[in-house]
Amino acid sequence: GQCALACPTGAIVVKDDTRKVWKEIYDKNTRVSVQIAPAVRVALGKELGLNDGENAIGKIVAALRRMGFDDIFDTSTGADLTVLEESAELLKRIKEGKNDMPLFTSCCPAWVNYCEKFYPELLPHVSTCRSPMQMFASIIKEEYSTSSKRLVHVAVMPCTAKKFEAAREEFKVNGVSNVDYVLTTQELIQMIKESGIVFSELEPEAIDMPFGTYTGAGVIFGVTGGVTEAVLRRVVSDKSPTSFRSLAYTGVRGMKGVKEASVMYGDRKLRIAVVSGLKNASDLIERIKSGEHYDLVEVMACPGGCINGGGQPFVQSEEREKRGKGLYSADKLCNIKSSEENPLMMTLYKGILKGRVHELLHVDYASKKEAK
Ligand code: SF4
Repeated sequence: GQCALACPTGAIVVKDDTRKVWKEIYDKNTRVSVQIAPAVRVALGKELGLNDGENAIGKIVAALRRMGFDDIFDTSTGADLTVLEESAELLKRIKEGKNDMPLFTSCCPAWVNYCEKFYPELLPHVSTCRSPMQMFASIIKEEYSTSSKRLVHVAVMPCTAKKFEAAREEFKVNGVSNVDYVLTTQELIQMIKESGIVFSELEPEAIDMPFGTYTGAGVIFGVTGGVTEAVLRRVVSDKSPTSFRSLAYTGVRGMKGVKEASVMYGDRKLRIAVVSGLKNASDLIERIKSGEHYDLVEVMACPGGCINGGGQPFVQSEEREKRGKGLYSADKLCNIKSSEENPLMMTLYKGILKGRVHELLHVDYASKKEAK
């Protein structure tokens, strides 16, 4: 196989983890679980004989099962947790009148790194929510902690930045990372090819229980504006299909690098900005610093969001749009659209998460900075 994958920024060369993951799968003493990020399912297309933007989640699950993974989950479930925690954080800030500065999203590690480096003074306004990948990894490691086998957790992600996120000290328990390996979409494609599976002919299969439920809100995390739309579905009081459809037209959708939207929360108008691409992020930050007000700012480092991540096969802009459309159609197929209606959430909050929400789902990037 390939020996190295180039970082999209060109600054670093990222190691290929496929050999290590194969070794863990073949080790009889391990229990290997895997989660697949929303954006991955619409990006395998050309390489594996499907159409651009086609949602291949069922086939990916079937392939991972044949490759020998023990438990197969969908990061969209982790995204549902992120929506609940991030909405609560947003509403708390507004209620307490602490919204002179916007709440910045925190699920893109390349954005978090950028903020730490260039705008450390903004860190107290970056959400304390761990990314969907990290939230879900905490839950999975907890769930199987009594297993007699060594637990290994793999995440299939659209970018190499996730490899660095997984390795951060904040996400280690007793020195072991919650996510042991991150495979990029390209590495997954390589492993599928190595295993000799004829991907296009696989019959789609379902993800495993007990974490087998997710909502459309979780799936759209993979495209710019998706996190915002998911949070809005959570905070608006009208949960009807018409109300959710109208959220799609507030301005949050589409491939533009800077988008603005506003929605009513009670008698208050929430102002939201959605940016993708770090140049757009820094331009927006300068506008905010000179007095422009927003309540929520979604930042994704890759133009268009994770569908266009550096670990995905490269495509031109029309194909990128098809990937975005693929995620919105996956959302349409989900019978639950809003994260709080995912029945699994209730089970988690009453079970594993009881009294441990902060420990398992949050991270404090700001205080780490102050402690230095
Ligand atoms: Fe990774 Fe890009 Fe998505 Fe950020 S926007 S999480 S860098 S793929």
